[in-house]
Amino acid sequence: MKQYLFTPGPTPVPPEVLAAMGAPIVHHRSPDFRPIYERCLTRLREVCRTESDVLLFTASGTGAFESAVANLVTPGEPHLVVSAGSFGERWAAMTAAYGADVDELRYAWGETPDADDVRSRLAERESKAVWVVHSETSTGVVADVKAIAEAARDCGALIVVDAVSSLGAVRCETDAWGLDVVVSGSQKALMTPPGLGLAAVSDAAFAARGTSPRFYFDWERTREAQRKLDAPFTPPVSLVAGLDVALGLLMGEGLEAAFDRHVRLGRACRAGVKALGLELFSPDEDRSAVVTAVRAPDGLDSGEVVLSLRDRFGITIANGQGELKGKIFRIGHIGWFDVFDITTALAALELALADLGGDFERGVAVTAALEAFEAAPVT
Ligand code: PLP
Repeated sequence: MKQYLFTPGPTPVPPEVLAAMGAPIVHHRSPDFRPIYERCLTRLREVCRTESDVLLFTASGTGAFESAVANLVTPGEPHLVVSAGSFGERWAAMTAAYGADVDELRYAWGETPDADDVRSRLAERESKAVWVVHSETSTGVVADVKAIAEAARDCGALIVVDAVSSLGAVRCETDAWGLDVVVSGSQKALMTPPGLGLAAVSDAAFAARGTSPRFYFDWERTREAQRKLDAPFTPPVSLVAGLDVALGLLMGEGLEAAFDRHVRLGRACRAGVKALGLELFSPDEDRSAVVTAVRAPDGLDSGEVVLSLRDRFGITIANGQGELKGKIFRIGHIGWFDVFDITTALAALELALADLGGDFERGVAVTAALEAFEAAPVT
């Protein structure tokens, strides 16, 4: 059976990227690798929209995030972590594990963090850094990181952003918005298999390094080595070669065009789901362009929908995480996606739900999705 991957990470990988990864292995300190490494690091700065170094780690996104925690947190220091879902809560636990004195601004899963709340919390208690998730993949909510960064800056705090599922799909202006650290991973909108994590690190964040023990994830070690195009440890050369090609594809499309495409994919997916009479869990707004989260119909476990799509059609979507498991399902649309991926997912969803007792006019979801994709221009 043909397999389709419609999860918000990992995501499908274009054939050009797979082909680059299938090339013979080169040595990482040879002239065969250095131009690839250099181009990849340059392209990462373009995607992050920063002049600062983007540090590349052999790790998933969580590892790159841990680099930020290990380099910035000194035990006992106050930090403010904003959480509104699975990943925000992970960062609260991680900063606490490194001994930070964590103030958690905790929202219910599905709520949207608010910059004024961040401002009030920082007015009550100074923090060295604010840690926030840009796109909370567990809920589909995309936060207004620009406004939150402004609040942090006004209160003298650094801002660290988890852009694991947003970088390359949703606007994230590292320098223009004054983001001190932006973390991401290869397996989402960057259209590459899992295994590479990255952290764009501003001079201010670099200067604010703390005393927690670290070695593999030490920013200074990686930054010094990267500046000489001499990775501190053996990099996954095939993944870097793949990421280089994927970033070339993204730059070829143009970042602005990629952001627009993701807005339209989000609109299409939401329109299709609503046409089936389903209730959205993620917000019905353009910013929510990474993943569409949908409440399971009354009396149905979302796991049944997920299983039915997989068993009958080879389509993988995601169940809810944590407390939302069984209650929502999530259709991802980041990276190498076009509208026909959305209509494929919706057509299959329609069939699966009809089998499970759903009552709707056949074909409505696909029609609504195509109309929404083509409709108004992105503003
Ligand atoms: N943060 C967000 C928003 C994510 O979506 C994910 C992965 O799904 C992570 C962090 C963790 O990344 P990884 O699984 O690559 O460690």
